[in-house]
Amino acid sequence: MAQSIHPATQTVHVLCGGCNNKFDVVSSYQSEELRIELCYNCHPAYTGKRKISKAGKIDRFAARYEKRSTDLMTKTGTEADSSQKKPE
Ligand SMILES: [Zn+2]
Repeated sequence: MAQSIHPATQTVHVLCGGCNNKFDVVSSYQSEELRIELCYNCHPAYTGKRKISKAGKIDRFAARYEKRSTDLMTKTGTEADSSQKKPE
């Protein structure tokens, strides 16, 4: 391991404001105390209180595009009828 290129590390006391959880981490953070709003104890992704979509971005895009394309098809059908009535 090369010397003098790594930052100095120390034990930092982390205080969570969301659930009052306290734990220690070794970090290069420049203070002995770090206050955070969310931690592993109260974050929705870890507590399971909020559902997180497991579908991928492509799946969500395909579902959204499919819905919009069907909406557009019905809208363009009505718009095509109204545009034909307009005089030029
Ligand atoms: Zn917390």
